[in-house]
Amino acid sequence: MLKELEKPVTYIKGVGPKMAEHFEKLGISTAYDLLCHFPRDYTDLTAQVPIAEAPLNEFCTVKARLVRKLAPAFIRKGLTVFKAVFTDDTADLTLIIYNAEYLFRGLCERKEYILNGKITGNFIRREMSSPLIVNADDPDLIRPIYHLTEGISQHYLGKTIHTVLSSLGADIFEPLPAEIRRENNLCSLGYAFEMIHFPKDAHSLAVAKKRLVFDELMTLRLGMGLMRNRSLQTTGCVMKPADMEDYYNSLPFELTGCQRKAIEDCITDMCRGWPMNRLVQGDVGSGKTAVAAGAAFFAARNGYQTALMAPTEILAAQHYETLSGFLEPLGIKVALLTGSLTPKNKAAVKEGIKAGEYTVAVGTHALVQQTTEFQRLGLVITDEQHRFGVEQRATLAAKGENPHKLVMSATPIPRTLAIMIYGDLDLSVLNELPKGRQPVITYAVTGRKREGAFGFVRERLDEGRQGYIVCPMIEENDLELKSVTEYAEGLQKGAFADYRVGLLHGKLPAAEKDRIMREFKDHELDLLVSTTVVEVGVDVPNAVIMIIENAERFGLSQLHQLRGRVGRGKHQSYCILITDNATEESVKRLKIMTSTSDGFKISEEDLKLRGPGDFFGSRQHGLPKLRIADMFSDTELLSLAQRAADSILAVDPMLEAPDHKGLKELVEKLFERGTE
Ligand code: ADP
Ligand code: MG
Repeated sequence: MLKELEKPVTYIKGVGPKMAEHFEKLGISTAYDLLCHFPRDYTDLTAQVPIAEAPLNEFCTVKARLVRKLAPAFIRKGLTVFKAVFTDDTADLTLIIYNAEYLFRGLCERKEYILNGKITGNFIRREMSSPLIVNADDPDLIRPIYHLTEGISQHYLGKTIHTVLSSLGADIFEPLPAEIRRENNLCSLGYAFEMIHFPKDAHSLAVAKKRLVFDELMTLRLGMGLMRNRSLQTTGCVMKPADMEDYYNSLPFELTGCQRKAIEDCITDMCRGWPMNRLVQGDVGSGKTAVAAGAAFFAARNGYQTALMAPTEILAAQHYETLSGFLEPLGIKVALLTGSLTPKNKAAVKEGIKAGEYTVAVGTHALVQQTTEFQRLGLVITDEQHRFGVEQRATLAAKGENPHKLVMSATPIPRTLAIMIYGDLDLSVLNELPKGRQPVITYAVTGRKREGAFGFVRERLDEGRQGYIVCPMIEENDLELKSVTEYAEGLQKGAFADYRVGLLHGKLPAAEKDRIMREFKDHELDLLVSTTVVEVGVDVPNAVIMIIENAERFGLSQLHQLRGRVGRGKHQSYCILITDNATEESVKRLKIMTSTSDGFKISEEDLKLRGPGDFFGSRQHGLPKLRIADMFSDTELLSLAQRAADSILAVDPMLEAPDHKGLKELVEKLFERGTE
């Protein structure tokens, strides 16, 4: 970076220690920080309206000729009012200025000015008080608006930034390699800084913004990549290629191309000298478990144990069932560790894992993490479903000899975003559903159709299928619990009197949940009334219909997860979204659900409609604060920036080349800013 830019602000002409203190409050301590204090908005004086059409009481810009100045009115000591009449030939406008005689005196009759302010009065007598006044031939018609702090005015800030820019002249530093600038059609950094603060016109502002957003996103990606490269320690679990045919042949179905590819990605990773760090991202029902089992099979063939952690007991039990179904016929023993085991059984299972009797151990995060010793742990798989959990990933790495890590996530976040958020992980995407899956037919209806919907469910149950009815329980408090319980009882006595109805909610003891889930799986229940606990990965292929009550209370991505519980088998499946509160907004959202089953598309829409906050829930994503880029809307630049960053890291993984010094400095600066 240029020495000039690293100097404290006090080196800038017109900035003394007092002002430096004020700047500090804006997080500005160097000239570079000052340049990076981008305007939060602009006043665009080129967007002019005829006076006759200008709205009242809103900010607007007009271009008008000064017709005549009126005599000043001395209201009282210290308050003089100056008035002048302007016209643009559509209407007249009276300018009002308080006290600022110097300003008033500078105005010339018959000359044209641009005035920006609020017009008050009525459509016959229009007035504008203390507007921004600019000569009509002023070249700077797009003015920056900055975040300020006490002691620093717009004008002062603009002037100081201008001083820095003109002292630098043309030779501001340029961290981007020339070919990246060329390929992505980016202006120079000097031009970008100048135009972001003092744009010539809307086009040059857009050009500047593109460059600065690109830089920031690329820097972020470089930083995440650096972190990953730094963490490539050695592993004691270097594996060797093994024959996978036994596994592939034993499956009751043929893997999709992307499942095969994901397993091969894992194998390649596990054969290298450093630990695998891979995310398998796939929509609900894309078959992530078969990928996990494939990786576990490969590890087993290499003599290593695998730990698989699930977020809930129900899921752990289900994974256990699937994995043992796939692997036990191949001679690989699978253990299940859950809280509902008797202490004696638990101890026995743990002993077996420690002795290496079991090759695969499945359990909840807590159980597997805290208390289990392995004989030869080589692979740790976490099923995060839709949650983001950076914290848990690290813990198990301490066990064994730096085992390989595989994370499964069903959050269908757009790929580019996943790369940022899971930037420390390599990514395999399952973007193809297994063959023969029919999309779930989805309807959105109001509560008036509820009885009809129940009738439709009964028809499915009479055909030997099963169904879910999901009720939102936001607070999980006693009141809601009571209403869900009553609702389920009402169904059992009423619409579903001839069927077996079960109730599942998060407040039930784990053993009870397991029992109910098992009964549903074994078709001892026809209908499962449930809160959102079914959201996470429950697999019952015979369940073909889901009713979601109060559907408007769920986010789209969550509805999508819920809906993924049906449509898992060979029967046509249905999802009925019921809402008693059909606002325009909720109708629009539910329409997205009825029109697509593509989780990625749905999450993009969710993002547009509700913003990223909802996406991450209360969780924070732990990425550095960005100044100008917005990961959630600058998606096109995001992928260009990622590509550029990855091409740089491919040849210089630690950014050590002299040519990349500027980039490395940018990364350090960005990550110094703290996270959010
Ligand atoms: P998810 O990605 O949501 O975790 P699962 O692993 O639970 O998905 O798989 C969903 C269902 O699809 C399971 O019943 C599984 O056995 C089945 N399945 C997985 N892969 C295939 C495939 N290639 N062909 C047919 N069915 C498959
Ligand atoms: Mg799953």
